[in-house]
Amino acid sequence: MAEHHPDSPGGPDGTEHVPTLLVKIFGKDRPGLTAGLFQTLASYAVDVVDLEQVVTRGRITLCALVTSPARGAGTEGELRATVHSWAESVGLQAEIISGIGDNPARGTGRSHVTVLGNPLTADVTAAIAARITGAGGNIDRIYRLAKYPVTAVEFDVSGVPTEELRTELAMEAAARAVDVAVVASGLQRRAPRLVVMDVDSTLIQDEVIELFAAHAGCEEEVAAVTAAAMRGELDFERSLHARVKLLAGLDESVVDKVRAEVRLTPGARTLIRTLKRLGCQVGVVSGGFTQVTDALRERLGLDFAAANALEIVDGKLTGRVTGEIVDRAGKARLLRRFAAEAGVPLSRTVAIGDGANDLDMLNAAGLGVAFNAKPLVREAAHTAVTVPFLDTVLYLLGITREEVEAADAQG
Ligand SMILES: [Mg+2]
Repeated sequence: MAEHHPDSPGGPDGTEHVPTLLVKIFGKDRPGLTAGLFQTLASYAVDVVDLEQVVTRGRITLCALVTSPARGAGTEGELRATVHSWAESVGLQAEIISGIGDNPARGTGRSHVTVLGNPLTADVTAAIAARITGAGGNIDRIYRLAKYPVTAVEFDVSGVPTEELRTELAMEAAARAVDVAVVASGLQRRAPRLVVMDVDSTLIQDEVIELFAAHAGCEEEVAAVTAAAMRGELDFERSLHARVKLLAGLDESVVDKVRAEVRLTPGARTLIRTLKRLGCQVGVVSGGFTQVTDALRERLGLDFAAANALEIVDGKLTGRVTGEIVDRAGKARLLRRFAAEAGVPLSRTVAIGDGANDLDMLNAAGLGVAFNAKPLVREAAHTAVTVPFLDTVLYLLGITREEVEAADAQG
């Protein structure tokens, strides 16, 4: 027998030119159907070339691609008659289609398209599928990743470069209330090694400076500086200094109060717990303050945390920050530093953030996820999530809700 290797051209198993039969059965699922079909086929000494099965709301669809009956094991006509009679006996419909060889190899340019809908409408599904086809892509496989907290469906697409497909689908996502993430297919996708998150309005629902400002009675002044920064009148560093200055004289005891006030984003714990189970390291970088991020690091078992440090002298905030400033460039620098410390290439990192401050970090990472971000950030990032659940990032990595829940049950 000739030796075949998966890398050799023309197929590894010698089935590329042999007659094959596609056997499809459909009907009410019950135990033993797959065994029953293959026991029926076994008497014709056929080999299995491909096999796929799905069960949707109690209905099974099973497609088996098998070689034609072996010499001396019966004819194709006899096989057809036997399968149909078996199917009838168990209340199923069967269809058998003759042909040659295996499925054609999937095209190059393979991507995973994850669609998050809340709900996922037929209209949106039609639009996305049409865009994929319009871009020259072929949908090879579709499956559901999750039904909670949103409906997440994944399309495996080939035939169009990932970047091109991403651009095409981003237009569709922008026009409709749906999140569409396009990532290149490959081994790396399901196993990120380092995930780095922004804190304010990403890991937590709050803006930490505003929590401090509320205790100092200067919310309005702080908000005015924030607004000026967002209008581009102040850069981040100047706005940070201007806002922290307003906190001067605040008692140190406020730090504990603010720590207690911080509200995690829904799904944050699930995301972190699941990533840790996958052997992934998790860190945070924040334009906020170490007084809060260190507490989060402790509370959530994070591997890395970096932020600006509020200076405290004689039990009072001085209105200054100390140490290295964490700004837009700083966040990207910290992502690189954490990756180096973790021994992880940048291609195996994921960054998540919502602000303009996060853009350099999002673009430096292997996958940058804009999380409930401003339109500017959403457009510039690789991918965007607009539903307010942090654990939906897992779906972008191809991890299913079922896998998350099974891991939780074991843990
Ligand atoms: Mg933020």
